Amino acid sequence: MDSEGSGELGTVVKSEPVSEPVPVVKPKPTEPLVKPKPPWLAGIVRQAKHVGAVAKRIDDDHWQVTRGERVLTLTDGSRKAELDGAVLFLNEAFSRRTGILALSDSDFESTLAPAMMPVAGTLRSNVIVIDPGHGGSEKGTTNDSLGLLEKDLNLDVSMRLQSLLEDQGYKVVLTRYDDRLVPLEERSKIANHSNAGLFVSVHFNAALNPDAMGLESYILTSPGAVSTNDRKAGDDAQRWPGNAFDSLNFELGFRIHKQLIDDLQRVDRGFKRARFKVLKGLECPGVLVECGFVSNDKEALLLNTPVYRQKLADSLARSLGDFAKSREGEKRS
Ligand SMILES: [Zn+2]
Repeated sequence: MDSEGSGELGTVVKSEPVSEPVPVVKPKPTEPLVKPKPPWLAGIVRQAKHVGAVAKRIDDDHWQVTRGERVLTLTDGSRKAELDGAVLFLNEAFSRRTGILALSDSDFESTLAPAMMPVAGTLRSNVIVIDPGHGGSEKGTTNDSLGLLEKDLNLDVSMRLQSLLEDQGYKVVLTRYDDRLVPLEERSKIANHSNAGLFVSVHFNAALNPDAMGLESYILTSPGAVSTNDRKAGDDAQRWPGNAFDSLNFELGFRIHKQLIDDLQRVDRGFKRARFKVLKGLECPGVLVECGFVSNDKEALLLNTPVYRQKLADSLARSLGDFAKSREGEKRS
């Protein structure tokens, strides 16, 4: 539950006379609402140091931030970065801020920190909710020449994933088990009512450009940050229930994205952020995956094969299972 509004100094002292003496409540010194900007945000070297990492310039345009095995590669003037070899989009370009190359404050908080210093935290249950996108009258994207409907592909991959995760011992709930329309808000509600520990929404992509192909993975945009999807879906600065899991979302989403890229060897369109309705209301970490372009004739042929869809499900089961397992371990210890 959100603790907003339960400020410590908000105690109401009754003014009526009472038999007991009213204890004097001394106001505690309060933290300023807006913290002064810390000096470590001055440049990438200091930003990296603050999260236990080391930043080094590798050539004229590129910097590398490393901590242990983790490597974040940044390009001067670009939002496109790489984490452990997979593409990731920053909220804002890595650029000169007051004369020194630095990440924006929001990228420091929502990208560098979770990438270099994963937070502790356990999942609230071993229930994984899979959301096959669209359904019923909402076909999603289509490929008319192959007769492909996104809603069918989503359900097919979701059911393959369900069986793999159940084999791993997880309890799995789908937001739909057949070809029916489920409103977007309803999908996160199903996850919340099922006490989901994790949520994954399965989609396939389309673009006006027929050459566009490859894989994308999305998590909910952090409050105040700019979404990195092309259409800036539902962009606003509001804090959503799903934002309580910003760090875990990052870890889950990136793990899933990297695994998909490694396993399927398709074009890496990046790990991105958007304020998608299915992610906003979640009370657990969640991710939305775009498993390929139905609008690209070459890729659509591949998506049309059960072998490829099984590969997708295998990859998702591996990363979801690994993530869930790593978060159970902490609970037991
Ligand atoms: Zn879709």
